[in-house]
Amino acid sequence: MGFLKRRIFQGLGTILPNSYFQGFLTASLYQGSVKGVCSPLLNCYACPSALLSCPIGTLQHFMVTGTVPYYGAGTLAVIGASVGRMTCGTLCPFGFLQDLLYKVRAYKASMPVWTRWFRYAVLVGLVFIIPYLTHENWFSKLCPCGTLIGGLPWVTLNLNVRSMIKALFWVKIGMLLFIVGTSTLIKRPFCRAACPLGAIFSLFNKSSLAQLAWNAETCTRCGKCQKICPVDIRPDRNWTNPDCLRCLDCTRCPSIKLTTVFHGNPFGLPTQAQAVGATDRIKEVPALERP
Ligand code: SF4
Ligand code: SF4
Ligand code: SF4
Repeated sequence: MGFLKRRIFQGLGTILPNSYFQGFLTASLYQGSVKGVCSPLLNCYACPSALLSCPIGTLQHFMVTGTVPYYGAGTLAVIGASVGRMTCGTLCPFGFLQDLLYKVRAYKASMPVWTRWFRYAVLVGLVFIIPYLTHENWFSKLCPCGTLIGGLPWVTLNLNVRSMIKALFWVKIGMLLFIVGTSTLIKRPFCRAACPLGAIFSLFNKSSLAQLAWNAETCTRCGKCQKICPVDIRPDRNWTNPDCLRCLDCTRCPSIKLTTVFHGNPFGLPTQAQAVGATDRIKEVPALERP
């Protein structure tokens, strides 16, 4: 996908689910019929302009009440089974924000791969187990996206909310500033290490209908795909990587294409043998210079 096209999609993913603009003028939340619909994005439903529900907020709500979140889990399963993490790469406003922050001229660093495990811990701990045990929505209390588009607007708009600020609010602000700061240095730190929605979708990357295909015959191992990748990974090494956002930026290289499990590899490759042979050759590739 071209750079501009993805930015347009991300812009639409930011504006359309948040188009109840009168919420800012009237300091009220939209309560209409579509509010019950789960968006496929991390988008706080406490934002004054939010039209849809946040899927993580929905899952957590059911945990707090001790009931099974059939609807929220089913919605996420259908989206994940269809496109894997594609909504992270093409629509999510909080992912978009991190992409933009990484454009800031600053020292750039890489992030260790093991940090990805933390997002699964956040999912199991803060979205499922702790809310179930404490009957409190702990992920939402700390979510930096919620602080940015839910907490801060309400504190600005409503005097009563401002008078109720406690120490936890400043902890949330600190976490938001930490994510904003690290996003200027590292590609999408929150998506890779902390987002529970990304953790859920990443479980589907290996088996979703939409897949990336790689051409072992034409790939020159130039590493340009990693340089443009918003999560700093190499699709030529693992094209079903759970960290892949399916943003399709790397499909600008003719050796990577989007396909489906029904269409198989559009290059006619790889057979299992070619894939194994390619993996052997990959071991000989020197580490890339970090972007
Ligand atoms: S990982 Fe979370 S914050 Fe990042 S793009 Fe996906 S849903 Fe949005
Ligand atoms: S997939 Fe394309 S960009 Fe990536 S290493 Fe191969 S030739 Fe280079
Ligand atoms: S590997 Fe390709 S599709 Fe996946 S996140 Fe990186 S650039 Fe996007």
